[in-house]
Amino acid sequence: MVNSTDVFVIGGGPAGLAAAIAARQQGFRVVVADGAKPPIDKACGEALMPDAITALARLGVAVPAAEACLLRGVRFLSSGLSAEAVFPSGCCGLAIRRTTLHRIMTERAAGLGVDLLWQSVVTGISGEEVQLGKRAIRARWIVGADGVNSRVRRWANLDAHSRTDLRYAYRRHYRVPPWTDRMEIYWGERSQGYVTAVSDEQVCVAVASHDAELRLEESLPAFPELNARLRGAEAASAERGSVSANRRLKRVWRGNAALIGDASGTVDAITVEGLGLSFSQAVVLATCLRSGSLAGYQAAHRRLALRPLLMARLMLTLDNFPGIQQRTLQVFRKRPEVFRRLLALHVGTLSPFHLALDGLTLGWGLLTA
Ligand SMILES: Cc1cc2nc3c(=O)[nH]c(=O)nc-3n(C[C@H](O)[C@H](O)[C@H](O)COP(=O)(O)OP(=O)(O)OC[C@H]3O[C@@H](n4cnc5c(N)ncnc54)[C@H](O)[C@@H]3O)c2cc1C
Repeated sequence: MVNSTDVFVIGGGPAGLAAAIAARQQGFRVVVADGAKPPIDKACGEALMPDAITALARLGVAVPAAEACLLRGVRFLSSGLSAEAVFPSGCCGLAIRRTTLHRIMTERAAGLGVDLLWQSVVTGISGEEVQLGKRAIRARWIVGADGVNSRVRRWANLDAHSRTDLRYAYRRHYRVPPWTDRMEIYWGERSQGYVTAVSDEQVCVAVASHDAELRLEESLPAFPELNARLRGAEAASAERGSVSANRRLKRVWRGNAALIGDASGTVDAITVEGLGLSFSQAVVLATCLRSGSLAGYQAAHRRLALRPLLMARLMLTLDNFPGIQQRTLQVFRKRPEVFRRLLALHVGTLSPFHLALDGLTLGWGLLTA
């Protein structure tokens, strides 16, 4: 094991691996430590939006066609109503098992010469030192990529954040032939279900709600169309739980330490943007490290999170008001171009100017539906 490095990344999930790859691309010596053993799994909807794929490509990470399924758009379903929109022309998303994505990113990092320490829990940081139990490694820069309950955030005194709207989520895979190449979002009264086809024989189902006690199987009757499709299907993985939240930190760096991914604040799972956001953060973070100063990271990080946070707020408003949810779907059915443009805005191919325009159309539609 090395005694010193340029960049030490704490956490080898998608954000930590992305940070390590981007820092290697800038020529730094990089060490990543993660307490778990790869490939690392996690409760996730397992969808990558088109902007996430673009960000992955900047990291030189290519997902082989055989390892993922194409996603061509998004479909909302609620109480017998459905509306869908395809991604802008030339754009596709991907659905990929979390463990597969982890393996592919690990291979890319290893191929670039990142030093990967698995089953290695970081126990503290102090100045330019990272502690792994009794061992210490010196690092010029320390990156906290240790997830939503980040300890690095606490150690670096970066815990101050905006109010958090916490939700609880569960995920499981079912052995059933996929029926769609859209990511499906089912709206129930107290929860949403997200469905992605991750292979030609399995779908990933995730459910999120404000109720910590509401487990996945229990929540399925709230989505009758989905429940019917899954009836009799064998579960292909164990149920995994996680929290989901919109949380913005006051600061994402201090001294020589910076945070990335869920450690640096989160956007609700409903946006399907957590992974893509962390890949984009990795690129700007590495550029800041190259410049020798983290000062620009704060503003760039905030800019990147703006669009997903805005979309999360819009979608969670629908969650709180089932009546508006229904009317929104009716507007989307009547005016499919509004849904298509909102989706284009969501994946970053349209300017916020269009949000104002479509916001007005949607607002008028809601009043008159
Ligand atoms: C239900 C749900 C569905 C979601 N669906 C999607 C989706 O479809 N698409 C999308 O883009 N995003 C989705 N997200 C968001 C996405 O899952 C997260 O944004 C993403 O996992 C963040 O990755 P990360 O690397 O920051 O954190 P994590 O994946 O949590 O990785 C953190 C890593 O740090 C390690 N670690 C922690 N502490 C230490 C320590 N002290 N020492 C060493 N290692 C440590 C852990 O072992 C872990 O491997 C979803 C989230 C939820 C909750």
